Amino acid sequence: MTWLSGRRAAITEPPAAPRAGIVATGIDVYYGRHRALEEVSLTVPGGSALAILGRNGAGKTTLLRSIVNGFGVQVRGDVLVDGVRIGAMATDEVVTRHGIAFVPDDRRIFPLTVTENLRVAALGSREWRADVTRVLGLFPFLEAHAAQLATTLSGGEQQALAIARAAMRVPRYLLLDEPGEGLAPVAVQRLIDGVCQLREETGCTLILVERNMEMIAALCDTAIGMSAGRIIWTGAVSELRDNPDLLEQVLLPATGPEAGTGDHHGIS
Ligand code: ATP
Repeated sequence: MTWLSGRRAAITEPPAAPRAGIVATGIDVYYGRHRALEEVSLTVPGGSALAILGRNGAGKTTLLRSIVNGFGVQVRGDVLVDGVRIGAMATDEVVTRHGIAFVPDDRRIFPLTVTENLRVAALGSREWRADVTRVLGLFPFLEAHAAQLATTLSGGEQQALAIARAAMRVPRYLLLDEPGEGLAPVAVQRLIDGVCQLREETGCTLILVERNMEMIAALCDTAIGMSAGRIIWTGAVSELRDNPDLLEQVLLPATGPEAGTGDHHGIS
């Protein structure tokens, strides 16, 4: 079965050969007078998988938004995607031109059936469109719900659908904002399986904001830890697992907003 249909239906191989990746340099983001990101620099090589960790308000979502110039974020500094400076490029141009799929933490499921949600996701794609059947193959449990109103799905099913919608455009970059939040282990495992399969089939680069260590360890090689709008730790995921103090005291506890504390925990 081919992965693609539509305009380039003759092509049976995914288009996602490793790309140059994303290079962000000296990123500052303000919301009004609040500085949400401060001199953030980051390199995500094409084909790699990066986890972003940090307490509530650390700036993780803002960093994802900065990569796509999205959600009204005014970015100062440079973001290069595949070597192209996104500058003042509009969000839809950034995502279409570079094949970036952003799955926000609120999922944004449309009040349509599961199948309709998938079809709508492919509309307007200038290049690549995946086959609905193929995408449902990433999350086989969704097949039984294909005709169901998607807003009536369980949380785990909705999250899988949100990722499946992203897959409809065969992303070269997949940005996931806390997909595992509030989900039971079995639902988390299903997401892991689907994302693993999607990456195997497309080679897409993954940037994952997440607290669930099972998901981080299963999907990512490297990680950054953020605090108060800055990157305070960079390393291999395996190092994170071996460093419970870092995990428990600095990165993972959901102990409430930390913005404005200026507390960088002395980790560099
Ligand atoms: P969480 O884990 O809670 O989602 P986060 O690490 O993703 O947090 P961000 O959502 O990036 O953090 O927010 C970083 C800071 O910017 C927070 O202090 C937040 O209150 C603030 N912020 C985010 N979006 C806006 C906005 N649209 N307007 C004003 N302030 C904002």
